[in-house]
Order: sequence, then structure tokens, then C-alpha cells
Amino acid sequence: MVLKPSHYKSNVWIDWCPGCGDFGITAAMYRAFSELNLDPAKTVVVSGIGCSGKTPHFLNVNGVHTLHGRAIPFAVGIKLANPELTVVVNGGDGDLLGIGSGHFVAVGRRNIDILIILHNNGVYGLTKGQASPTLSKGVLTKSLSKPNIQDAVNPIALALASGYTFVARGYSMLAEHLKNLIIAGIEHRGTAFIDVLQPCVTYNDIHTVEFYRKRVYNLEDEGWSPDVKGEEQETNKKLLAAWEKSLEWGDRIPIGIFYRNTGISTFEDRLSEEIPIYKISPPSKQIISDEKGRTLIDREIFRKIFRDYIIIRKQER
Ligand code: SF4
Ligand code: MG
Repeated sequence: MVLKPSHYKSNVWIDWCPGCGDFGITAAMYRAFSELNLDPAKTVVVSGIGCSGKTPHFLNVNGVHTLHGRAIPFAVGIKLANPELTVVVNGGDGDLLGIGSGHFVAVGRRNIDILIILHNNGVYGLTKGQASPTLSKGVLTKSLSKPNIQDAVNPIALALASGYTFVARGYSMLAEHLKNLIIAGIEHRGTAFIDVLQPCVTYNDIHTVEFYRKRVYNLEDEGWSPDVKGEEQETNKKLLAAWEKSLEWGDRIPIGIFYRNTGISTFEDRLSEEIPIYKISPPSKQIISDEKGRTLIDREIFRKIFRDYIIIRKQER
């Protein structure tokens, strides 16, 4: 049975501010999930804290609303435990690029097969609009008392530098384009990242719908080709070109796929080389209890570990 976009919409009341760009992101997710006909039982949306953190509640698939900045490690654990799942992370700029920035970088090195969607609005919306890591220096939004005195992180450049093999940017008010990016990101084998320009209509009066309407243009319309297949020289050239393109932020702001490398092994492939049965018998398929729910783990092993531990502690004293 083909599931319609409405099948992926939960019955939880959506309490984002009217006009928030987050609505466009969830609409694009409903449509992308429907086009891919994702099995809701095998799809997981993971979030941290912030307005974006509410996303899993609004989707009729498995969802985990985790801790601030920790959505990525949760997603990595879920995917590693059961590689059959489609795993999508939704996080804000404060969540993924502030407190969670270490995880954002580390996951790029692994190239695990998940999609990360950044709700990029330049502010900490849930806590009343403080400057977030993507707000440029000198910008004065209505909730700041003075212009921002910190420089901004460039999410596209950071993803490229961290090893992500799919790096794209969407705009939440162009839901059809964003839907296609989400489909491409899920279909990509490896860590995919989409920086979504998401107007916060309540606290960011600079990066408004009107601001983006005049500026965004589609890279594809200008003949941009994002693809490489892992060959070192070509990859380096493309990375450099994509990085240069990511600096374009002014009268014109590019959206689309900046970089896609289909020639890099995934973390799951690398694990399978180390542990040949990993893909047939990942942790989620291993039997850990009997029919009465009792653990099958040899208790003697635990007793020994703890006994040894106690002895070491005593020696330390
Ligand atoms: Fe959206 Fe901003 Fe309202 Fe949060 S505070 S729901 S980001 S408009
Ligand atoms: Mg934000």
C-alpha cells in the first residue's frame, strides 16, 4: 500500500508560531516519506532541544526527542543497532552547531547512513531569540539589545570539512525543492546533511520570508554539478568549489546539492569488514533473553568482572 503524505502526519497539535518555517520542513518530510513509501515502523526521527526538537511529535513514525545537542549520537546508536532503519535527525542551529557541534563534526568522519536536517533560523527560538551560532557578526535582530559580536559558523563549509558525503541547502518555503533534497539525502548511502534556511517569524526580523524570497536561487539552474565518485583529485577539486560556493551570502544565496560523493564507504560497510556477521546479525537481531525475559548473558562473567573491579579498587586504596 502506498502511504499518502497525510499518513505521516500525527494527530499531535502543532504549536509552532503561525508562519514559522518549521511547517515547511515537516510538510516536505511528509511528502518525501510518502514518495519513498517509507514504512513508519522502520523509520525513526530523532531530535534534540529547541523548536525543531518538537518535530518527531508531529510525524507518524518512530520518534525520539532527546537531550540538547545529543540527537546525533542517539541517531548513530539507533542506526548501528538496526541498519535496516531509515534514520533522520532534526535539529536547530543552537542544538547541532552550538552544544552539539562536536557530534556534528564526529559523525562526518564516520559516514554512517543517516540524514541530518538543520533548522537554521539564526536564533535560539525556544528561549526567546538569543543569537545562535549561525547569526552573522553585526546583525541586530529584534530580540537582541546590541548587534551580535560573535562570528557565525558556516554550516555547509563545516559539513564539507568534516567529511559529510552529501551536503545540501534548502529553503523551508520552497517545500517541493526541499522534499526533493530530503529524498536525495535519504537515498544517499552515507551521512547526508541539509542546511534548511528557516525563517523564525517571531524572533528573527532580518532573515525573513521576504529576505530569502529575493535572494535564493537554485544551483542546478546555473549548471552546478555536485557529484564525485571518491577519486581523490576530483573530490578535492569539488570540495574546494563547494566550499567557495558556500561563502556566497548576500544578494544571492544558493540552494540545492553542493556536494555528493558516492565513492566513500559507509561506517556500516567498514564495521562489516571488522565483524563479518554485522549486517546479518546486528545488535537489534541478537537474542538477549529467554522466553521468560531472563537474560541469556552468562552471569558468571559479570560476577568475575565485578569481583576483579572490587579487587582493583582495594589495591588503589
Ligand atoms: Fe518558529 Fe521562531 Fe516560533 Fe520557534 S520561536 S516556533 S522557530 S517562529
Ligand atoms: Mg535556531
